[in-house]
Amino acid sequence: MQSAIEVRGLVKRYGEFEAVKGIDLDVAQGEILAFLGPNGAGKTTSIEILEGFRDRDAGEVHVLGVDPEKAPLSWRERIGIVLQESEADSVLTAREAVTMQAGYYTAPRNPEEVLEIVGLTDSADVRNRKLSGGQKRRLDLAMALVGDPELVFLDEPTTGFDPSARRESWEMIESLRQLGNTVLLTTHYMDEAEHLADRIVVIGGGEIVARGTADELAEQVDATTRITWKPTPSEPAPPSLLPITRDNVTGMAIVETTHVMAHLHALTSWAIENSIDLAELNVARPTLEDVYLRLTDSGGGE
Ligand code: ATP
Repeated sequence: MQSAIEVRGLVKRYGEFEAVKGIDLDVAQGEILAFLGPNGAGKTTSIEILEGFRDRDAGEVHVLGVDPEKAPLSWRERIGIVLQESEADSVLTAREAVTMQAGYYTAPRNPEEVLEIVGLTDSADVRNRKLSGGQKRRLDLAMALVGDPELVFLDEPTTGFDPSARRESWEMIESLRQLGNTVLLTTHYMDEAEHLADRIVVIGGGEIVARGTADELAEQVDATTRITWKPTPSEPAPPSLLPITRDNVTGMAIVETTHVMAHLHALTSWAIENSIDLAELNVARPTLEDVYLRLTDSGGGE
């Protein structure tokens, strides 16, 4: 598949300080990629270089096949940027703001269609200052989409949202996938990255720490799955291959494992053979948050 973004050996220095230390990054067309990292990791610096707002010190950068430092105006029309702060004029209605924005592009999308995509049709005639926080974010996205961009940069799109507004935003971001857009998403919410992203890239201290799907990242840190159940006092000894520990407070039996299938198989076969009812059996996979914390604690190097 063709790359929407291709970065090789990107370096950015602020004086003596090297904020981005020679990173490589590929984002395929039509992909949603989450770019994660702790505060100060180098995300904003890298993304601003990709957006053409910041110069680099070294490296090759191609965004939609073009070097952002030398990009013509027509390239900017192919990109949508949703910043953390709302840019739409507060005295306009959503419909007016999106229609006006469409006027800046040579081949915009139909504003009504865009309002529909972001779920603002019913509030299209409300003045922007009266929109709720969630509705304002929808308008921000509408403003970025009306130019019919191929690539959308989403910077922490749901920060400060209540849980239901976040869910709605996720649906909206997923609709971009259906439109064939490529999305580069930054977020500090790991559940958001896990839910939305096809792939995840983690940056720490200016270096790429890990990349892959959520499952691949879990493998990289050997994150364990936790199998638990409530044993009965009379049950026979479980198979010795199961590394069982006990929680002294709850009395639960615990198997922490990366060999989930083999250990579950051993456990359930033993239970069936001995007519044991594995009460409260639970299998908890590592969350992306567990994995991310381990990746970013351990620092640089893939
Ligand atoms: P956050 O999650 O807080 O937005 P980030 O990953 O986006 O963080 P950057 O803003 O790219 O991180 O910053 C990377 C490093 O470069 C930080 O140590 C920051 O202090 C430094 N930095 C960023 N901009 C400048 C600047 N204009 N001048 C000097 N140092 C800077």
